[in-house]
Amino acid sequence: MPHLHYINGQFTSGHSAETIPVEDPATREVLAHVPKGTAADVNAAVEAAKAAFERWKRISASEKAEMLHEASRKMRAHAEAIVTLLTREQGKPKPENEEEVVWTYTTFDYYAELGRHLRGRVIPSTEDGVLNFVIKEPYGVCGCIVPWNYPLLLLAWKVAPALAAGNTVVIKPSELTPLTALHLCEIAFDHFPPGVINVVTGDGSTGEALVRHPDVPMIAFTGSLSTGQQIASIAAPMMKKLHFELGGKDAFVIADDADPELAARAVAYAGLINAGQVCTSTERIYVPKPLASHFIENLVDLVSSLRLGNGMDEGTDIGPMIGDPYRQKVVHHIQDAVQRGAQVLTGGRIPTHLKGYFHEPTVLVNVNHTMLVMTEETFGPVLPIMTYESFDEAIQLANDSIYGLGACLYSSDAKKVRRFFEDVKAGTIWINDPLTDNYAGPFGGMKYTGGGRELGEEGLEEFRETKHVHWDIEARPKPWWLPYHQL
Ligand code: NAD
Repeated sequence: MPHLHYINGQFTSGHSAETIPVEDPATREVLAHVPKGTAADVNAAVEAAKAAFERWKRISASEKAEMLHEASRKMRAHAEAIVTLLTREQGKPKPENEEEVVWTYTTFDYYAELGRHLRGRVIPSTEDGVLNFVIKEPYGVCGCIVPWNYPLLLLAWKVAPALAAGNTVVIKPSELTPLTALHLCEIAFDHFPPGVINVVTGDGSTGEALVRHPDVPMIAFTGSLSTGQQIASIAAPMMKKLHFELGGKDAFVIADDADPELAARAVAYAGLINAGQVCTSTERIYVPKPLASHFIENLVDLVSSLRLGNGMDEGTDIGPMIGDPYRQKVVHHIQDAVQRGAQVLTGGRIPTHLKGYFHEPTVLVNVNHTMLVMTEETFGPVLPIMTYESFDEAIQLANDSIYGLGACLYSSDAKKVRRFFEDVKAGTIWINDPLTDNYAGPFGGMKYTGGGRELGEEGLEEFRETKHVHWDIEARPKPWWLPYHQL
């Protein structure tokens, strides 16, 4: 597979001699080098996408749908190779990557169908002989900036609806995980007309060139709050459409009717998949005082039994983190919590016997909202637990965050469930089944997470602009037109 930009249907090394190494986070082996894209490379990709847009927007919805399905078929046929590459560049255990690849190709199928379903509506007119209708139009060239934690799934959640809506795309994958995006260009996107899908590899400076480009009217971005704020400050004067999926600090509330053993399993899953590097990872756990000791005992037993290892190895429960700066943030959050009185019940260390960027899954108690681990996004395998007295207090604690991505509750008490989904400010509420997504269910956040939605009809709507057409078919003069002095 060529480790080069993919522009106008061709792999190209572009304008820069500088490259970026891509590491396997489990072994630190360098897997490949990719070009560090310059503003000139971004410009070449945008030019190609702009030219392709003029043709792509006119291609019928059924033809677009067929091409999206074809991409999905090709991904299915190559699924094993994609899973292997994804595991090597991203690190999480293979079963989690198998799931990510299924999600990726199914998202293409989902938007293939949704894209040909609705394109607007006819509305009642205010006069006889006049036709009023609303049409939904693509923006043009969409810049899709993707992070490393779900490199393909988050690419698909942008690219599939963007194309179905009639846009063309320039993708900027994360510098940490660009290889799978390039692989898709080679094996699954090669039937699209040249320029419809482009990939420019590089770091933040490459992403910034895409944001600054005057011919990119929409930026769909998933990543950290601070990068989102930088993008917003650059894009705002150009009035670009911004579609943001930013950070999270999701709460998991265990209600007093919950089975502590089941709740512990649910929490471990929600906080530790992908080594806690999920935007909707459980990062704050609230348990009622009477259940606390039973719940914590079960959680510690389970977490201390989990196996850290290479995601390629069978039997690995938790893979490496993506890199050392991310791991150091986890270390810092744990140290800060311990200095302020928290206690580590299991984990808390960097294992010395593994070469990659591993961190032990960690359970912390005696935490409170003065600690970084309860206020800032940790993005690692840490489960901090706080006790509460009343359900009111639990809701108030769950809402005590600048973020509003997801929130989980374990309870079979309908009154508590209703109270929770009505009063917790988050884009997704999971009851008794944490972190399970639904293609038809919009995914995204409130507050500082940004208001974008992916998946569902909302996920397509984000990539379309609305136009109202008012058409007097008779072309008659109107009595209210100028000049008034003849009325
Ligand atoms: P990041 O913000 O560092 O990088 C994301 C992407 O933006 C990368 O491709 C990067 O190269 C690019 N980028 C960096 N600086 C840029 C700039 N100035 N202009 C344009 N592009 C720039 O985030 P990350 O570390 O890759 O991902 C982790 C973050 O993503 C976490 O905060 C996580 O919560 C968030 N995330 C959110 C969701 C969601 O749906 N809300 C999903 C997954 C991840």
